[in-house]
Amino acid sequence: MTTIALLGIPYDEASSYRHGAAAGPRAIREEFERARSYSNMFTETGVDLARPGLLMDAGDVVCGTAAETRSAIEAAAAAQLDQGHRLLVLGGDHSISYPALRGVHARLGTLDVLHIDAHPDLYPDLEGRRYSHASPFVRALEDGLIGRLAQVGIRTMNPVQRLVADRHGVEVTTMMDWKGPPRFQFERPVWISLDLDGIDPAFAPGVSHPEPGGLSVRDVITVIQRVEGRVIGGDLVEYNPRADINGCTAPVCVKLVKELAGRIAA
Ligand code: MN
Ligand code: MN
Repeated sequence: MTTIALLGIPYDEASSYRHGAAAGPRAIREEFERARSYSNMFTETGVDLARPGLLMDAGDVVCGTAAETRSAIEAAAAAQLDQGHRLLVLGGDHSISYPALRGVHARLGTLDVLHIDAHPDLYPDLEGRRYSHASPFVRALEDGLIGRLAQVGIRTMNPVQRLVADRHGVEVTTMMDWKGPPRFQFERPVWISLDLDGIDPAFAPGVSHPEPGGLSVRDVITVIQRVEGRVIGGDLVEYNPRADINGCTAPVCVKLVKELAGRIAA
């Protein structure tokens, strides 16, 4: 049976504006416990997440300097795969996806990535910072970790990122061209990287970089459920409990973690 390791990364030093996403893993775990009372542990697709051994809390990665943190994330991700687990990473800011992808790539080879976000995160660097949360996919593409990068929810594309997208053949679905949840067919092992700010701040205000005009929670769930291919892991990043309003974003995170886990378990 598949075991999905929930790996927390309480790190937000690579955020370019607000901090607070470091508190994300803890807040999601707490809400997950509450959800056992107000909901049940079945996904919409019928996976029972309470089945013994299916979900395993792998704790938090110990974070230090930026370089130390990246190494620790990469090692922790690879270690979970070495134990035969699949991986669901809880951020943290989006910079953590690059070292996580490195760790997964080291064990599984080239990955296809479905990236849900308001932002393309394709800046070659942000004010000289190459490992900021605005650049994880540039580093991953340069390293050859990703065979195919498909982005959904994008509404902040600009010329410098467009150049990178075109150079690497990134498939960008912008909100301007949104025609409902697309159906992706992937050939390689699939990683789903879910930046919470891809969702409209009306549904999920607890983010560091709110960008109106985004996806509904329903849209995101449908995108996840429609993915065709072998989903081997994913991350949920950029949830900032400090920016939340009456804690309304936490249940959104739990819902998305459940549906992501259900997709990884399938
Ligand atoms: Mn992002
Ligand atoms: Mn974003």
